[in-house]
Amino acid sequence: MLIVQKFGGTSVGDLERIRNVALRVKKSVDAGNEIVVVVSAMSGETNKLVDYAHYYSKEPSQREVDLLLSSGERVTSALLSIALQAIGVDAVAMTGRQAGISTDSIHTKARISNIDPKPILEEVKKGRVVVVAGFQGVTQDGIVTTLGRGGSDLTAVAIAGAIKADLCEIFTDVDGVYTTDPRIEPSAKKLEKISYDEMLELASLGAKVLQNRSVEMAKKLNVRLVTRSSFNENEGTLIVNEEEIMEQPLVSGIALDKNQARVTLRGVVDRPGIAADIFGSLADANINVDMIIQNAGDHGRTNLGFTVPKTELITAQKAIQKFSKEMESVDFDEKISKVSIVGVGMKSHSGVASKAFKTLSKENINILMIGTSEIKISVVIDEKYSELAVRALHAAYELEK
Ligand code: ASP
Ligand code: MG
Repeated sequence: MLIVQKFGGTSVGDLERIRNVALRVKKSVDAGNEIVVVVSAMSGETNKLVDYAHYYSKEPSQREVDLLLSSGERVTSALLSIALQAIGVDAVAMTGRQAGISTDSIHTKARISNIDPKPILEEVKKGRVVVVAGFQGVTQDGIVTTLGRGGSDLTAVAIAGAIKADLCEIFTDVDGVYTTDPRIEPSAKKLEKISYDEMLELASLGAKVLQNRSVEMAKKLNVRLVTRSSFNENEGTLIVNEEEIMEQPLVSGIALDKNQARVTLRGVVDRPGIAADIFGSLADANINVDMIIQNAGDHGRTNLGFTVPKTELITAQKAIQKFSKEMESVDFDEKISKVSIVGVGMKSHSGVASKAFKTLSKENINILMIGTSEIKISVVIDEKYSELAVRALHAAYELEK
């Protein structure tokens, strides 16, 4: 098999760990596979470089910042290649540019525009392990760019797509994706397989596991993804196309998001275009609005509620201010959380939502907002009941089995 293996910062955190990664890669090679490795910077390195850049200036030039940040991954790729050679594995290290990765010119969050598969495949054909520095590319003009924090995952998935790899394995410090956060519910189970869409919805569980953009890319390029631990041999979680999952469970997992805040606009003038104006203004301010509810209007007035990330609440406040004449009052509530029940199986089954509501009511938890999509039911509740709600729902859908 042709496999892309990506090792994150903690997996290559020191020289001994890099040696362990080399041994692990050697095992895959000895088993008869062709391996392309993508590496992150050693843990803490990227943050250190960002700090260095700010030693001299509050706004260091983005071009130089990208050149600087790209060096973290280059160090790891060269070291791993040397470590592989030292144990008798023919290996070659490459920067993003050498690996044929082109991007647009948006510094520090560039998008990959193209990957030329030739440079990597030519080395693979010679029987070498190619070790690519993740998180970086180069513009048409040859200027180094980086792909945004956590971007090595994206490098790995994009390369896997470009060279038509059979599999893309992402090695981190966790075993895979769980039915819920095991720190909240110790009986949470590791999922064997989930679909791309479920993974995206469970992102708040798996945020540390996989960068969201890389999951979107994997879906688009149909790259089979595995996330597993680099510190043990356990099987990870396979993330694939929905069609590949024969027995779709009704519910795959329960996600908890404590980073949302609720905004309630009361007595909003009920005129055509008011929602377009308010949400247009929020969009212009780059605010990521999530759940939205509008009540039935009364006497020409209505109530409008929605959630925004806590970090964007102040910007949201400003964006709404200009409508103050068209509403009676505004409330902001940061003490909420969003609990989501996720599963592709609910597309074809009814009763998932009512079970959730019954479960929460048995625990005396009041639901403040409800939102649904084809594969998800989300409820906003008082933050202090977050863990209780997660545990009750996890049990109600028998996810420990
Ligand atoms: N080193 C980069 C970061 O820390 C990219 C990565 O680790 O994926 O964000
Ligand atoms: Mg990382």
